[in-house]
Amino acid sequence: MKKYQGETGHPLSVMQYCPKCGHAGFVVNDERSKKCEKCGFTFYLNCATAVAGVIMKGESLLLTRRAEEPYKGMWDLPGGFVEFDETPEEALVREVKEELSLKIRVKHYLFSQPNVYAFSSVDVRTTDLFFRCEVEGSESFVPSDDVSEARFVPLREIDVQKIGLSSIRKAVTFLQNHREILEK
Ligand SMILES: [Zn+2]
Repeated sequence: MKKYQGETGHPLSVMQYCPKCGHAGFVVNDERSKKCEKCGFTFYLNCATAVAGVIMKGESLLLTRRAEEPYKGMWDLPGGFVEFDETPEEALVREVKEELSLKIRVKHYLFSQPNVYAFSSVDVRTTDLFFRCEVEGSESFVPSDDVSEARFVPLREIDVQKIGLSSIRKAVTFLQNHREILEK
């Protein structure tokens, strides 16, 4: 059996009892699953799909400030988790509307990054998809929901150390060094 060797132990260590029958023998099955020794119920922690929007105004990128933990107060890109029965593109349009009351159009897919998102004592693994987007209509926005502030910041001047999530930090760093991929 392959044992998970991450820094914080098994990703499901917080789940001590079988969620189906309540038995205490809910043991590590592999690096991302646990199994009940009594009823056989097996639970996998799969990657969640998340999306982030790259919205430019000239040479400036739209950044949002996180209003909630994790990384409260740090910079982020607009976006969030993809819901059931929703495409990543639909999720991004919905999230940007919820967070900024801004109507966007998804232009094209850019790249992806795996990420770890600590939520409720579980290290949620995500697959973050990045899309180039364009504002449709008015460029004015109103931060709300899990965003406390939003601002267009010149891409070259963004201090990536002030970006909370590692996948977003890597993505913005990549954009700073490969500005040309936004021109496609
Ligand atoms: Zn069980």
